[in-house]
Amino acid sequence: MSFATHLECGYCSKEYNINELHNLCTECDKPLLVRYDLEKAKCEFTKDKLAVRDSTLWRYHEMLPVFDMSKKVSLGEGWTPLIKTTRLAEDLGVENLFIKDEGMNPTTSFKARGLCLAISKANELGVKEVSIPSAGNAAGAMSAYAALAGMKAFVFMPKDVPVPFINECKALGAEVTLVDGLITDCGKMAKELVDKYGRFDVSTLKEPYRIEGKKTMGYEVAEQMNWELPDVIIYPTGGGTGLVGMWKAFEEMEQLGWIGSKRPRMVSVQSTGCAPMVRAYEENTEFAEPWQGAKTVADGLRVPAAVGDFLILRAIRESMGTAVSVTDEELMDASNHIGRTEGLFVAPEGGATLAAFNKLRKSGWIKDGEKVVLFNTGSGHKYMGLWSN
Ligand SMILES: *Cc1c(COP(=O)(O)O)cnc(C)c1O
Repeated sequence: MSFATHLECGYCSKEYNINELHNLCTECDKPLLVRYDLEKAKCEFTKDKLAVRDSTLWRYHEMLPVFDMSKKVSLGEGWTPLIKTTRLAEDLGVENLFIKDEGMNPTTSFKARGLCLAISKANELGVKEVSIPSAGNAAGAMSAYAALAGMKAFVFMPKDVPVPFINECKALGAEVTLVDGLITDCGKMAKELVDKYGRFDVSTLKEPYRIEGKKTMGYEVAEQMNWELPDVIIYPTGGGTGLVGMWKAFEEMEQLGWIGSKRPRMVSVQSTGCAPMVRAYEENTEFAEPWQGAKTVADGLRVPAAVGDFLILRAIRESMGTAVSVTDEELMDASNHIGRTEGLFVAPEGGATLAAFNKLRKSGWIKDGEKVVLFNTGSGHKYMGLWSN
């Protein structure tokens, strides 16, 4: 049972039928968001119901957009550990530093959350072929869920992505096209074939369901912290679905009466080699200019332009958060610091959150004793080559 009612443009508020396939808003080309009957949900979906639920993100199925549960595809995604750091905290001389370890998800990244919902909903709406341009983890996650749903998966990747990302997709049955160019070039090629063959395009924020999967990180952080949100959340930002999703989740949970009005300050971290959100935040603009010559070892952060830029910037500003960039050297050092103290082999994007934490503590923006959650968005395993020299 789901309380989803309709889709609404995140920019111009135009409404769409939730029982039809949609990509961007046809009026303004901006992302569509799923809306729910929160009044009704407030009476019927009380948090005590969670006690007997599955240890997956489907524990919140009332606030997810799938109506026919026989169409859902699941590999055990979500409900990842929220770890209170011990040896890392001691090293840094802090007390309340947590890591949400998203590397524990199927296909070893939090992309599983979003693609699980995108593919489940597409399955419900009768889709047979799906397409994605991706710099890595999203393609693997889509391939996995498409395989389970019996859909044909088409992946478009820059030809310089690390080999494990490519081989994973192949092993999961996807047809992989390597493109001589950046993710934006992959997007163009994918789009042409989407139009030609009627495939469903599941690019970041170009369909409304991936964000619904990712928002469950917000529900989980709240539940795992006993409904008291942390002071700060640090999130490695590419397309920004997770950050925007969590911000949406907090609003929904307040309406459900699960939490109060206190919100974490949302911090977006990017690489100095590709930092369009940091620049837009600093220049105080509503949208972000595309970044030229994007370059970083953290593939998930190599996103020069995001369709949801204004939603990311809105969440950062409304939360009194901030945006910071860190160098590849800093993020790799920080990854290793987490590894040798906490025993977690984190993705470089995860390392970036610790590098940002160090900067913000040094500048006094994060105060002693504040509760901080770092998002390790993936496992280090597929990036193994980075540690080879
Ligand atoms: C995709 C990805 C990101 C960026 O996530 P967005 O929600 O698109 O901002 C960060 N880390 C990893 C490991 C990723 O795969």
